[in-house]
Amino acid sequence: SQIMSRGLPKQKPIEGVKQVIVVASGKGGVGKSTTAVNLALALAANDSSKAVGLLDVDVYGPSIPKMMNLKGNPELSQSNLMRPLLNYGIACMSMGFLVEETAPLVWRGLMVMSAIEKLLRQVDWGQLDYLVVDMPPGTGDVQLSVSQNIPISGAVIVSTPQDIALMDAHKGAEMFRKVHVPVLGLVQNMSVFQCPKCKHKTHIFGADGARRLARTLDLDILGDIPLHLNIREASDTGQPIVFSQPESDEGSFESQNLLTL
Ligand code: ADP
Repeated sequence: SQIMSRGLPKQKPIEGVKQVIVVASGKGGVGKSTTAVNLALALAANDSSKAVGLLDVDVYGPSIPKMMNLKGNPELSQSNLMRPLLNYGIACMSMGFLVEETAPLVWRGLMVMSAIEKLLRQVDWGQLDYLVVDMPPGTGDVQLSVSQNIPISGAVIVSTPQDIALMDAHKGAEMFRKVHVPVLGLVQNMSVFQCPKCKHKTHIFGADGARRLARTLDLDILGDIPLHLNIREASDTGQPIVFSQPESDEGSFESQNLLTL
């Protein structure tokens, strides 16, 4: 009851940041970080007058450094704020810049929370039109704390079409609704694999699961992304697909759809 009477913690905007878009997923490994990275790049590519940042609060498994081909320690500004690292025109901040890549992140809850506080409040973003936030998977303390501490314009939820991923994506959507964060829609990832040799299409994780969930929750499908070797290679080499193959004739990436955000 003490917690109830205190109500929600007061939300405070991140200085200099106009719109925060969080990218979330129920499960790990469904392509949340891939979506976050390419969404940031697409937003910047779509309108070169927009300044875009990328914040990785997936503290247990930060993948932004590798995907954005960045490493190193952020410099401190005069007011002791961390300066984001820059690549492909995107200002990036990640727990991965602050700890050794191979250091095990077996942190106690409190340490995670103070890391989140640092990432949310002690970064000098300058002026940003969009800050894309790569959330940890699931609906735990970090997700709740981020949602309660900063005003969020909307959440993008990523899922594969597989039942087990969809169940967790559903929980994620419910969580955002409870904390009054608008859910912008779902991204269905890894829905189809087309054999490069024989062109046969296989729905490895099921066909339309996320589309069904979108109907159930009355949400839009923002994109439907195939399982494709180029996407995995692009991520692993730190040259995200939207950057490295912007004019890809594989129209089926439908990453264009994300631009309508
Ligand atoms: P999450 O953030 O949900 O844990 P990631 O974005 O890190 O997931 O993706 C997990 C792995 O799957 C990465 O190696 C990534 O390159 C790969 N991947 C993601 N989406 C696709 C896709 N559509 N096609 C091929 N590989 C993908």
